[in-house]
Amino acid sequence: MLRSLKSAVGKIQRCHFSAQALPQPESQPKVLYSGIFINNEWHKSRSGETFETLNPSTGEVITEVQRGSKADVDAAVKAASDAFKLGSPWRKMDASERGRLLYKLADLLERDATYVASLETLDNGKPYTLSYPIDIASSIKVLRYMAGWADKNHGKTIPMDGKFMCYTRHEPVGVCGQIIPWNFPLLMFAWKIGPALAMGNTVVLKPAEQTPLTALYMAQLAKEAGFPAGVLNIVPGFGDAGEALCKNTSVDKIAFTGSTEVGKKIQQASGIGNLKRTTLELGGKSPNIILADVDIPFAVEMAHQGLFFNQGQVCCAGSRTFVEAKIYDEFVERSVERAKNRIVGDPFDSRTEQGPQVDQDQMNKILSLIKSGVKDGAKLLTGGERLGDKGYFVQPTVFSNVQDDHLIAKEEIFGPVQQLMRFEKLDEIIERANNTNYGLAAAVFSKDIDKINYITQGIRAGTVWVNCYNIFGPQTPFGGYKDSGFGRENGEYGLSQYTEVKNIVVAVPQKNS
Ligand code: NAP
Ligand code: MG
Repeated sequence: MLRSLKSAVGKIQRCHFSAQALPQPESQPKVLYSGIFINNEWHKSRSGETFETLNPSTGEVITEVQRGSKADVDAAVKAASDAFKLGSPWRKMDASERGRLLYKLADLLERDATYVASLETLDNGKPYTLSYPIDIASSIKVLRYMAGWADKNHGKTIPMDGKFMCYTRHEPVGVCGQIIPWNFPLLMFAWKIGPALAMGNTVVLKPAEQTPLTALYMAQLAKEAGFPAGVLNIVPGFGDAGEALCKNTSVDKIAFTGSTEVGKKIQQASGIGNLKRTTLELGGKSPNIILADVDIPFAVEMAHQGLFFNQGQVCCAGSRTFVEAKIYDEFVERSVERAKNRIVGDPFDSRTEQGPQVDQDQMNKILSLIKSGVKDGAKLLTGGERLGDKGYFVQPTVFSNVQDDHLIAKEEIFGPVQQLMRFEKLDEIIERANNTNYGLAAAVFSKDIDKINYITQGIRAGTVWVNCYNIFGPQTPFGGYKDSGFGRENGEYGLSQYTEVKNIVVAVPQKNS
């Protein structure tokens, strides 16, 4: 049986995550689908081009994937537009039936969980002990949560002045272009298509070029579940395919997760031709604030997991750990010890805590940011180098004495590099924590409720965790302030991003004539 995300994360947090209850992975999962999925059929790219997806543990090619570009994107958008036309099977379908199809998709994913988790681990490099109980389990949960909403997203009746009555309908936005990153390929797929399909939209999704395989497999499962042709289309490719999606005037909405840099480009491109609704979930440089009254070993473990989880490739990673001066030295010592004990290696091995970074570019970016940390004067206490010469492994790295103006305290590193920063007074910490263009997440660890409330109110971020880190649920909203983007995913807030509100005003005769 699948473990819940909560219990899996709970186990990680208690630092004795055990893989014993997990089914054995398939260490060489066969790739079944590598084409472009349009109208419930598999296609080759119109250009004839393909690209390689690599195994980040070895750098070896897993398979060739069809490379979609503008012509393929346009064909997919045409299919999605046709599927959205009034009178189409999708538009005629009862909302409860849409929900049933999403439940079916979740069931099929659960049926194939071992295979899909293995495929995710192969393509992305994340440990199977995480891909199974976190990525796959949470994807199933979010699909089921959204399925339940399909026939429950009601409008309102609103009393109004005069001889009129009004009611609202929550209608689908239309054709949704969705562009997702490589750090949680399947989970981001589920976060995107779940609410879009539950609300009756149609979708063209572009997975990240590094990790297209699980999204492609899900396309086949969607067909098996019974989604009508054209409702869900997947076009693997590079940034040019994403750009074509953003510029296509038949697309009504773009939902993007990825870097702030590309997010800005997407917002510009989405205004070309027609004005698309955009939701952007972008980067972060999240503060994790540790007060002196904490249980130190617990807080050290939380801060470790909050940064190193998923090879550090997490948009809300606690990448600025602020520790109160009174406990700073002990906290640093224990954090270094913990990082030195982190098990890095084969992501299919059940003891492994950390796999490779997703690709060579990411590895090189991380190593160069580590160099900048040393140059700026931060103290490198452990790690700092590539691990081995095969694949894209980076040593768990810890810096102390990091100053607010160091590059490693400002840029998103997206790797296993912890920055430990000292603070003296509560009054300074909110200003320092907010001194960033980002505003995705934050955390505070303390036993003092007044201090906790003071900090949670003062922080400008979309999520603030208290005495926990990286806790997500399909029921709760996630998204950013400032350059971390706008719009929210998950929960009722997330659903509202996939509907238009139609106001219907009806004249009401005052007497029967
Ligand atoms: P990225 O460039 O933002 O890529 C995210 C997605 O956008 C991918 O599907 C990408 O396609 C696509 N894309 C790229 N250029 C585009 C354009 N002009 N128009 C439309 N779509 C476009 O992220 P990355 O290069 O993979 O990673 C760079 C940095 O982004 C990381 O180091 C990290 O700091 C940050 N990042 C953040 C998140 C997050 O969850 N917030 C996730 C991943 C990365 P391709 O796959 O072809 O590039
Ligand atoms: Mg890959």
